[in-house]
Amino acid sequence: MAWFKKTRKPMAAPAKEKPSRVPEGLWVKCPGCSQAIYNKDLVATFNVCPKCDHHFRLSATERLRLLFDGEWTEYDKDLVSTDPLVFTDTKSYKARLKAGIASTGMKDAVIVASGAIDGIETMVASMEYGFIGGSMGVVVGEKIARAIERAIAARMPVVIVCCSGGARMMEGARSLMQMAKICGALARLDRARLPYIAVLTDPTTGGVTASFAMLGDVNSAEPKALIGFAGPRVIEQTIRQTLPEGFQRSEFLIEKGMLDLVVDRREMKAVIANALRFMGASSPPAAIAAVEPVAEAVAEAAPFT
Ligand SMILES: [Zn+2]
Repeated sequence: MAWFKKTRKPMAAPAKEKPSRVPEGLWVKCPGCSQAIYNKDLVATFNVCPKCDHHFRLSATERLRLLFDGEWTEYDKDLVSTDPLVFTDTKSYKARLKAGIASTGMKDAVIVASGAIDGIETMVASMEYGFIGGSMGVVVGEKIARAIERAIAARMPVVIVCCSGGARMMEGARSLMQMAKICGALARLDRARLPYIAVLTDPTTGGVTASFAMLGDVNSAEPKALIGFAGPRVIEQTIRQTLPEGFQRSEFLIEKGMLDLVVDRREMKAVIANALRFMGASSPPAAIAAVEPVAEAVAEAAPFT
């Protein structure tokens, strides 16, 4: 006999989210304005709806193509998760990894690469939502941390394009450690007087928001991107209040002082290049190293590394 009866009904499953990625086909229906858009028009506008400016999701590679002037050099391409917890939920983690690799052609949810952004040699980490929700496990953390270390060695600025559901549940506490690891590397980048720009895209949530996504010298976001830590339903149930309109969207966050810029994707590259120049980056990067106070800053930072 049960002592307590469950009187409350279990929570209803959340309504299925409209896909934000551009589907295959000649014509695409925009989730923002419900109009049909010719697929080739979208390519010309970097997947932004020409009618209502809805920003469709970009893959990690498309993002690099948008930012870099031309070719880029990729690093740590073959790092792959070892499934340290031998984790299984409705499906084994190994099977999820396999499916992610097959659908994206990547080994994990981030690409790190260096190349020129309007002539400025920059280290960019670009997250892929299509790979287990862009979640951050050991591989993502290691790749980003190494990218920052490389940027320090080569005296390059860093740009991280965030697109993630947060830390990767299937790697448990190890994925949470990545938050500290990346933040530590960013602190060293800061001590070396090198700029870091965070670009928050739809969606940036959980452990990614709670760590490196909010640590930029400039925190920029795309319009209407979902940015938050916990989901709105969880917050609503905790504080027992209805949340305001547009809660956890870029425009709401900039009003509350959580972001510095909301930038249309079509201007993102120019804005990043301008911000990097403003913060002292120039091309080629060797020119930065020649300035004396910077060299001192590096020497100061040495005992901590
Ligand atoms: Zn539209």
